[in-house]
Amino acid sequence: MFRTVLVANRGEIARRIVRGCRALGLRTVAVYSEADRDAPHVKDADHAVLLGPAPARESYLSVERILAAARESGAEAVHPGYGFLSESWRFAEACARAGLTFIGPSAEAIRAMGDKPEARRRMAAAGVPIVPGSPEPVADAASAERVAGGLGYPVILKAAAGGGGIGMAKVASADELAGAFATATRRAQSAFGSGQVYVERYLEAPRHVEVQVFGDTKGTVVHLHDRECSIQRRHQKLVEESPAPNLDARIRRGLTEAAVAGARAIGYVNAGTLEFLVDAQGGFYFLEMNTRLQVEHPVTEEITGLDLVAAQLRVAAGEPLPFTQETIEPRGAAVEVRVYAEDPARNFLPSPGTITRLALPGGEGIRLESGVVEGSVVSVHYDALLFKLIARGADRAQAIERLARALDTCVVEGVKTTLPLLRTITAHADFRRGRVHTQMVEQGAFHG
Ligand code: ADP
Repeated sequence: MFRTVLVANRGEIARRIVRGCRALGLRTVAVYSEADRDAPHVKDADHAVLLGPAPARESYLSVERILAAARESGAEAVHPGYGFLSESWRFAEACARAGLTFIGPSAEAIRAMGDKPEARRRMAAAGVPIVPGSPEPVADAASAERVAGGLGYPVILKAAAGGGGIGMAKVASADELAGAFATATRRAQSAFGSGQVYVERYLEAPRHVEVQVFGDTKGTVVHLHDRECSIQRRHQKLVEESPAPNLDARIRRGLTEAAVAGARAIGYVNAGTLEFLVDAQGGFYFLEMNTRLQVEHPVTEEITGLDLVAAQLRVAAGEPLPFTQETIEPRGAAVEVRVYAEDPARNFLPSPGTITRLALPGGEGIRLESGVVEGSVVSVHYDALLFKLIARGADRAQAIERLARALDTCVVEGVKTTLPLLRTITAHADFRRGRVHTQMVEQGAFHG
């Protein structure tokens, strides 16, 4: 096992990773930008290195500066967290070249799964059902139209290198296609540096259900059950839970078996997630694979009692998985909400500023993962996630009840937050009944 880990991230996830390292007695190195001099993640770590100015390109996204920080601090391994460089196969490769252990899968697995059409091809070859669509990126609007005609409208255009819900466009009919294709190509080019897009059938009001998988270097691959992440806004998750409610046992088994088969087929090592859409008829389709720790990993930890970060460290050090499929026993239910600094009155635009007051709940079954404290400055430069609130219960009703109570006692002043929307969602009858789908927020289910 390595002794010193550099955490190449900020905010709540950097703090979570520091805790995971501590659990194994490892020394931690934080990195930070000039905007984050006083950030909690810097204080948590044993040692901290300034990367550079606030813009992520010059700090958290600078491979060169992060490698230099690792060198000067004596780190032997790097944990990328989520976002930033976590899904950059070039970064994984650069770490290896610099003699550092990258805590995650192989550069090859990251590259293959980061190219969505290739991920779809590889999963289809492993027998995993995929959303019907074009096997390759489409060259122009005319070929997009041919594919769409074959699939039937509506369709959705997606960036081949996409992520974060960016650059997706629903197309209702053939006459909208040329315009949507031009926009999607342009957006994909500016967001991901590649204008390639492909076409998928658009599913009406599907559920988003994903499966946590974990592989080690001995060839073992297990799953850690499913998570429901259907409550989304602009294709970004707001509420996540495990297990997925009201899921037919046959579908649940199908999903976990497909996820393990898919991960096995690509020789996957470390923590990963296969995302699926589930339609009203019970059909399920592979959407994409995230080759990193997810934001929502705590709900899985809460129901399994396992420490996923500690397991990532062990696997990266070449140890076998610290659990087997038989010993992973899910118990009860857990729900997570993401609290962002966004202004609900201004179409959820980021709401930067200083947090002048912060009172966060604790109590039975409540877990908090926060990147901020009172006095923290929420910068325009980074993701606006402030903290995650996670509630566990003997069953789903108890977990939601605890979560709702905890949400009521949260106080955040100085910036606007998504708290009011989250309170509405957790009180909503359909949510409480576990009747959720990915288009609820956009369809206005939680207005008023
Ligand atoms: P990203 O990588 O940008 O997050 P995903 O492919 O994971 O994009 O999709 C994100 C979300 O977009 C899904 O959870 C779902 O809500 C919606 N979505 C994606 N593909 C489809 C589809 N074919 N039909 C309907 N909704 C979709």
